[in-house]
Amino acid sequence: MEIHDPPPAELAAEAFPSSPEGFRSGFVALIGRPNVGKSTLLNQLVGEKVAITSPVAQTTRNRLRAILTTPSAQLVLLDTPGIHKPHHLLGERLVQSARGAIGEVDVVLLLVDGSEPAGRGDGFIVELLRHSRAPVLVALNKSDLVDPARAEELAASYRALLGIDPDTSPWGERPAPLDWPLLACSATTGAGTGELVEALAARLPLGPHLYPAGAVSDQPEQLLLSELIREQVLHHTREEVPHSVAVSIDRIVDDGPRTAVLATVLVERSSQKGILIGKGGTMLKTIGSGARLQMQKVFDGPVYLELFVKVVPNWRRNPSKLAELGYRGDG
Ligand code: GDP
Ligand code: MG
Repeated sequence: MEIHDPPPAELAAEAFPSSPEGFRSGFVALIGRPNVGKSTLLNQLVGEKVAITSPVAQTTRNRLRAILTTPSAQLVLLDTPGIHKPHHLLGERLVQSARGAIGEVDVVLLLVDGSEPAGRGDGFIVELLRHSRAPVLVALNKSDLVDPARAEELAASYRALLGIDPDTSPWGERPAPLDWPLLACSATTGAGTGELVEALAARLPLGPHLYPAGAVSDQPEQLLLSELIREQVLHHTREEVPHSVAVSIDRIVDDGPRTAVLATVLVERSSQKGILIGKGGTMLKTIGSGARLQMQKVFDGPVYLELFVKVVPNWRRNPSKLAELGYRGDG
């Protein structure tokens, strides 16, 4: 999928605002280890409405594009799966997808968990980005968790990671210091995010609106719904389950004021199926009702959700299953 495709024909009828003089627009890739707060930041930046499907085009399932429009710029943000060293095929696909995003964007936003000192995982990503054609900005996220007395020490560990303070670097000799700006922010409270948006926008090329000003996302409805279910699984189950879970949305039926959604949760082992269903089906009920509440916000009306659990041994190592679920290596 080519991200610079023009918006689809059905949008032509919608009024694009005329872009003022000096307007900037372009693509921003959000890159970072899992759990640093990429998705939270995305939601913070575009507001809750990111959860609503807009009429904008299809995209690769696991790359959400969120659209943020300010009076002077339009940022199309690509949420990439977290980068970590790949351990199996799924990991490799996710890394490829994130790498693909880096090559195609105008600015890269490297998000790190600034409440902890820089770690090996961050070093791995810095090396991936070292030769990025696009400028890189580093956001030290989770600033709300940082004790002011430690802020300088934590920031220094990230400067060291970039080779800015080579004398203090625990990472050994770096080829050359990277002059990537570091900005602190909190994706949960929103602190520092205004400055972050300004800094990103300043690095975009001059250009007109790429999407209507009101658009917030081009995520296909199915992916959004499956992610809402996966989110509940992550919230309610312990470590052994989440990474083995994929969700496929089998049917969405618009049934008058009510929307019916049929979905299957795939796991790798029958023991995981047991955990997901729970005693007397209680776990699946909890997951289902949590997801249903979120879906009702998306559809702005009642939702009927039916969840099935299916064991597909080794789905993570099965290329055709991965493709079916939308994990495309070519991004
Ligand atoms: P991702 O894997 O990078 O997309 O990370 P998520 O957005 O899913 O966030 C991972 C966890 O960190 C969640 O529990 C978030 O609530 C939490 N989190 C993200 N950003 C912040 C932040 O700025 N402050 C705090 N305190 N928690 C955050
Ligand atoms: Mg995420």
